[in-house]
Amino acid sequence: MPFVVTEPCIGVKDHACVDVCPVDCIYEGGELLLIHPEECIDCGACVPECPVDAIFEVSTVPAQWKGYIAANADPFRASADRPRAILRERWEVLRGQEGSPAHRYYQRHGKA
Ligand code: SF4
Ligand code: SF4
Repeated sequence: MPFVVTEPCIGVKDHACVDVCPVDCIYEGGELLLIHPEECIDCGACVPECPVDAIFEVSTVPAQWKGYIAANADPFRASADRPRAILRERWEVLRGQEGSPAHRYYQRHGKA
């Protein structure tokens, strides 16, 4: 069963999970990152890296966040060209660059 990114990622999205994923199955999803449900090998390596406990194995997603199971999977059915998430170090560099998507993301969340 794949792992799923849920609500606590929103506004944080620090890309720490990306650094440890052995199969690069974490993708950009706008407000949060997304795990590809078919590429994920269920290793669980990303779970302890998340500072806000946003990642769950699909059968253990808390009731209030069950909608994120579909939210992780549906974008991959809709389009095959979603960009893979970049490594944390690169994300942090972009965060400091005014006008970049990363900088705008934290501006939206009052953290720029
Ligand atoms: S469980 Fe493993 S394979 Fe799946 S997203 Fe996390 S690190 Fe990647
Ligand atoms: S480690 Fe957690 S908060 Fe950071 S990007 Fe991944 S899911 Fe989001």
